[in-house]
Amino acid sequence: MVASPSAGAGTKAVIVGAGPAGDAVWGGLRDGGFDGQITLIGSEGELPYERPHLSKGYLMGTVPHSRIGLRPAAQYRDFGIDLMLGHRVVDLGLEHRAVVIENGDTVAWDRLCIATGSDARRLPELPDAIYLRELPEAESLRMLIDRGGGLDIIGAGFIGCEVAAVARQKGGEVHVHEALAQPLLRVLGPELGAYFADVHRSHGVELQLNVTSAPRSERPTLVGVGSVPRTELAERAGLEVDRGVVVDERGGTSAPDVFAAGDVTRFFSPLYDAHIRVEHFQTAQRQGYAVGVAIAGDAELPPDEVPWFWSDQYDLNLQYAGAGLPWDRTITRGQFGKPPFTVFYMQSSKLIAVAGINDHHHVARARRVMAARKTVTEQQLADPGFDLRRVLA
Ligand SMILES: Cc1cc2nc3c(=O)[nH]c(=O)nc-3n(C[C@H](O)[C@H](O)[C@H](O)COP(=O)(O)OP(=O)(O)OC[C@H]3O[C@@H](n4cnc5c(N)ncnc54)[C@H](O)[C@@H]3O)c2cc1C
Repeated sequence: MVASPSAGAGTKAVIVGAGPAGDAVWGGLRDGGFDGQITLIGSEGELPYERPHLSKGYLMGTVPHSRIGLRPAAQYRDFGIDLMLGHRVVDLGLEHRAVVIENGDTVAWDRLCIATGSDARRLPELPDAIYLRELPEAESLRMLIDRGGGLDIIGAGFIGCEVAAVARQKGGEVHVHEALAQPLLRVLGPELGAYFADVHRSHGVELQLNVTSAPRSERPTLVGVGSVPRTELAERAGLEVDRGVVVDERGGTSAPDVFAAGDVTRFFSPLYDAHIRVEHFQTAQRQGYAVGVAIAGDAELPPDEVPWFWSDQYDLNLQYAGAGLPWDRTITRGQFGKPPFTVFYMQSSKLIAVAGINDHHHVARARRVMAARKTVTEQQLADPGFDLRRVLA
């Protein structure tokens, strides 16, 4: 699972997928001293951009198209990156070491990185619904929301809840249909789930829980029922895939000189001593960068991190750090339901995750405690006067 040793000026690296992970891979390659040719191939016709805006500021109209890019366009030229945007790779070409593009062209590689990300999970009974993953879908949804008509949303996960919040703030009628007992239940648990149910209802969302079938209505429908890793290319190439392309901590797949990064992977995390799959923007970037450094042949990788993400709904900013592991008890700092407050998730008295509402300092500190594998007591967590940085000393 390691790269061949030579990665000199004549070496060609190809990255398939120009999302946040693919974009970070080339950054890691250059920072790791790779001076060969780098080609970044993406099926979207856009420079790599910050996808999380699509269900938040971009939809709201507060973050324009000009501000969603991950870096200034000139950087690609300055760092010698060959951009092939609007091109879909249809075969990784492991045998001949050249990827095949939809139009039949090939691009040769000595090192290959798969960064094809995730796609929205589709409901077979709703093929014509809106599925929010890429910019054109966000544009259609924004036009629809701006018209102020009604919207059905299937799934009260993060995308469903964020879009509901935007649509309500724009004055539209919003009906959310969730199969589970609370919104955001799997990640946040029943208490915070119920809190978010109240938040949405207080803003006028018609929220139906425990629903067993898709609604029949005349309103446009957004489906937000999770995502699936885009592993088709890797599967066809015979790479090891188990609900994600299986990679080691350096991004190495089961084939020599073939790497993978971002949402599409199930990567080995030394911190959790397990393969984990994470679908967060920052992880895609940080892991992508580390994989780039590894491909360049640099032995020193950036340290493993506790996954982190955020969500914006109305005037609430939720931040969460942890790997979504099962917990047996929660502890609240602050007054539950009155932001700012933070919920800590414990497993056998060990801190394994944290979620804060308008309370990012405590989340950031708890994240550092978990990354450093330090012990913190339940009393210390519950005490708003106890600075969590003290356990790091
Ligand atoms: C609406 C929305 C809101 C989100 N909000 C948040 C948030 O608030 N916080 C957070 O942490 N995370 C959020 N996420 C998740 C975050 O955006 C992802 O974790 C991150 O984008 C993953 O990056 P990636 O590069 O691995 O994959 P992707 O972003 O999926 O990028 C993969 C790229 O590869 C391209 N591609 C796929 N197949 C091919 C092919 N065969 N040939 C060429 N190109 C190909 C795709 O078109 C895409 O451009 C959100 C996601 C969405 C959709």
